[in-house]
Amino acid sequence: MKSVNAGALPGLRIVLLTLALLLPAGVGAASDSAAPFEPHQRLDVASRAHAQDVALTLDACGGAYDQELIATLLRLRVPATLFVTKRWLDRHGTAVRELRAHPELFELENHGSQHVPAVIGRRLYGMQGAPDGAGVTREIVDGAQAVLQASGHRPDWYRGAGAAYDRASLQIVTQLGYRVAGFSLNADQGATLGAAAVARRLRQAKPGEIVIAHMNRPAWGTARGFGRRPARSARSRADLRQAVPGGRGVAGARRQADAVNIDLVAEPDEALRRAIAAPLLAFNAALAGPSGHRPLALVVRGADGGVCGGLWGATAYGWLYTQMLVVPEPARGRGLGRDLMLAAEAEARGRGCTHAWVDTQFGARAFYERLGYTVFGSLPDYPPGFCRSFLQKALV
Ligand SMILES: [Zn+2]
Repeated sequence: MKSVNAGALPGLRIVLLTLALLLPAGVGAASDSAAPFEPHQRLDVASRAHAQDVALTLDACGGAYDQELIATLLRLRVPATLFVTKRWLDRHGTAVRELRAHPELFELENHGSQHVPAVIGRRLYGMQGAPDGAGVTREIVDGAQAVLQASGHRPDWYRGAGAAYDRASLQIVTQLGYRVAGFSLNADQGATLGAAAVARRLRQAKPGEIVIAHMNRPAWGTARGFGRRPARSARSRADLRQAVPGGRGVAGARRQADAVNIDLVAEPDEALRRAIAAPLLAFNAALAGPSGHRPLALVVRGADGGVCGGLWGATAYGWLYTQMLVVPEPARGRGLGRDLMLAAEAEARGRGCTHAWVDTQFGARAFYERLGYTVFGSLPDYPPGFCRSFLQKALV
């Protein structure tokens, strides 16, 4: 794909979201597991070929068609992934034909059926969320069907109304086989900004950014913002970077974070750990697919039947992680540790795992190396005077 030095996105190559590898860039704050959170993603621009990539996503929630915005993108040859609702598609047959005439630039993806947020029994940005899980499913499935009919291709992505989700809804998205489309740069704040503000935000776009804007509110400044020439100081890549020290400028996350409190918990328990982890796990599942996380434990019992050692770990994402390996004192040096590791690896292979990893800090590194593990990282002075080593091994 050629580089487009376009309007207010100078020096960056704009790609379609569908082609991109994603990295999570953080999760909006959530006070409990059912609270909506806003997934933020960036493109994986680690490779040289993608170092300047930016993805532009435009939402059509309902309402009108911003013909000037699409004309601007056509003129500048800027590709965009378009998240459209069924209700928008139903109303804009002519626009759909115009968009379909440029498959090299535009792809249609699923923004739901009736623009009902994927937050069950809650409100999101003034919109009433789905009444139940069936409502979330209907919104996704009917929206996908409409995109299929309008574009001839089954959508890969889903972005709910308001781009925030509760945990149950994220699971539904995953179960239906779609990936959640987050973003990292909110260019038009729901199409409520003027042209200058939109252009200013676009000039902040750094490589890897996923830009969100709207194509259904032509009265606002989105189209003219995209068409603005970049400021002189932001023309080259180096200058662009100097112009944006660090900031990602995701207003939505900040707005949510403003409304929460931070408490230090003196004695955190397992229930709290689960509550904190829940939105993250749902987010990971929506991004990378289900982890398939399963605990794995091998128990060593003494003659009296009591537990005196063993192995504790888990398998997830095709990896075995050994968190603890405990060989009882009397059995040391007789190959019991090796037997435990080999048994865990065999079980992991049976679960479809292809790799294993482990970390150790008190001299067990050589033990794992003898089992075929190699060091991929180390943390000096953990604990002071020792080095914590991280090792991995291919299981197949
Ligand atoms: Zn929307």
